[in-house]
Amino acid sequence: MNTVFLNGEYLPADKALISPMDRGFLFGEGIYEVIPSYSGQFIGLAPHLNRLNDGLKALKIKTSFTLKDWLDICNQLIEKNDGENLALYIQVTRGCSLQRHHAYNNDLTPTIYAFTFGIPNAPLADKSQVKTYKVSTDQDLRWQRCNIKSTSLLGNVMHFQKSVEESTQETILFNSKNELTEASASNVFIVKNKVIITPHLDHQILPGVTRFILLDILKKYCEYAVEERVVSYDEVINADEVWLTSSTKEVAPVVAIANKEVGSGRVGELWLAAQTLFSQYKGHYE
Ligand code: PLP
Repeated sequence: MNTVFLNGEYLPADKALISPMDRGFLFGEGIYEVIPSYSGQFIGLAPHLNRLNDGLKALKIKTSFTLKDWLDICNQLIEKNDGENLALYIQVTRGCSLQRHHAYNNDLTPTIYAFTFGIPNAPLADKSQVKTYKVSTDQDLRWQRCNIKSTSLLGNVMHFQKSVEESTQETILFNSKNELTEASASNVFIVKNKVIITPHLDHQILPGVTRFILLDILKKYCEYAVEERVVSYDEVINADEVWLTSSTKEVAPVVAIANKEVGSGRVGELWLAAQTLFSQYKGHYE
């Protein structure tokens, strides 16, 4: 039985109970993180915990947890649960209020829940073994604060479901000006004429930890130019390469968008360079 953390206690998953009056359940009012670990080593732990704190500030949820407390929960859960590769899921909601009302009381005690789940081995920088993605496209119909890693994921779920219904593996999203935002559970990069391009950070996209680590690695160790800027629909459709990034996918090559091949339809050379560097240096980002 998985051991989970709930409000200060470690207990078996089936003994972890929260009230249906929790505002996370009633309003989807909370934030979360998913942090991968391989053989006990976390990838991007500090940036994940920083983003968690940014989310708590944005929602004005106050906890007494220090960075050391979060680190302790992460380490204990990895120790208490079996598995070589585990992702740690942390969720914090506003807490439980006995009356359902949109306005919240400032004195609610946040609900803090964390558990682990098994993940596959980290992707390899190998063209013959990497999982390739065919993706759908959709107009981004989510809210205006996608920079907050909110548990209110209904928009993302609906966009992702489109890919399931179209037998693809992700949905790439465009705003009302036909500019690339991100995908339902990933950030997006394109490559054109050996330049690596990704949308700049703003309220339309999640500041992905993998995006952050990859950009830092590319700027330090890669010979190719990197740009963060507006990316149009036409640029995506005519790109030489398209990649998705997320904590468990790392850098994933897209080979078809809406049934049209990306570039040659094969995994690209710059993907290989990027995933090779990512595999080599990601361990520096603890
Ligand atoms: N964008 C969205 C909407 C996501 O849900 C995720 C991950 O879950 C990402 C981007 C990638 O973020 P990260 O690299 O921190 O996993």
